[in-house]
Amino acid sequence: MQNRLKDRIALVTGASSGIGEATALELARLGARVAIAARRRERLESLAGQLAELGAKPLVLVADLGDEAEAQRIVHETERHFGRLDILVNNAGVMYLEPIAEADLGRWRRMLELNVLGLIAATQAALAGMRARRDGHIVNISSTAGRIANPNAGGYAATKFGVVAFSESLRREVYKDNIRVSVIEPGAVATELREHIGHAATKDALNAWADSMRQLQSQDVAEAIAFCVSRPAHVSINEVLMRPTDQER
Ligand code: NDP
Repeated sequence: MQNRLKDRIALVTGASSGIGEATALELARLGARVAIAARRRERLESLAGQLAELGAKPLVLVADLGDEAEAQRIVHETERHFGRLDILVNNAGVMYLEPIAEADLGRWRRMLELNVLGLIAATQAALAGMRARRDGHIVNISSTAGRIANPNAGGYAATKFGVVAFSESLRREVYKDNIRVSVIEPGAVATELREHIGHAATKDALNAWADSMRQLQSQDVAEAIAFCVSRPAHVSINEVLMRPTDQER
């Protein structure tokens, strides 16, 4: 297992915490060289120190990925720095939950721009190089909220259903170019994600729900992503739906 990703170049977005951070480390443990992107420079620099110890020769990319030009820039910078990009993990995301009638559409627009448009822009930027080399893997992080739409999650579910739909269209457009596409749909994971919910009642209810179960850890999701991208070239794992054992819906 140790060298499964030797000589592979990966870019992980949203790597300054949670699932992205764990994924960058897991890919590095398998031998990949890793570029990491997010807004918080200090968190990325600290992760880069750990990645360097694993021999991943990290590239730190500070970027606001709600801006599609920035999402494209980080892909091109990775390609310039390492010579190519083999594995793109589109993980950066936010979750703003509130009833539709009270929704702050400015916040929902920023969520759509990051969770959907930023992911699309980074993917689009990566395709040219992957197609030219007939090699590449794009991993998109959706959610159980991309399969089941709950009350107070209208905007977030719209983004995550969108990621699932986009991923399937993408797969069907690029499979003949030997490019693989995987969409990951985790249930509750213990990360900072819920801290940014502005609607107090929804935040309290969701935290209570998550605290009632043995949540997934970021490492559990990172291992699923690592499994997808370390299969032999003829194996394309298109979808991973994973929940805490204790989670019903
Ligand atoms: P975290 O809040 O820990 O991580 C989110 C990451 O996204 C951070 O690195 C953050 O970095 C980055 N990010 C947020 N806004 C931006 C931005 N504008 N530009 C660039 N980066 C940004 O949460 P998770 O690890 O849980 O979330 C990762 C993904 O997993 C998300 O797509 C989320 O929807 C999905 N997910 C999470 C689940 C959960 O229960 N936790 C369940 C299912 C899916 P920074 O603030 O430094 O920019």
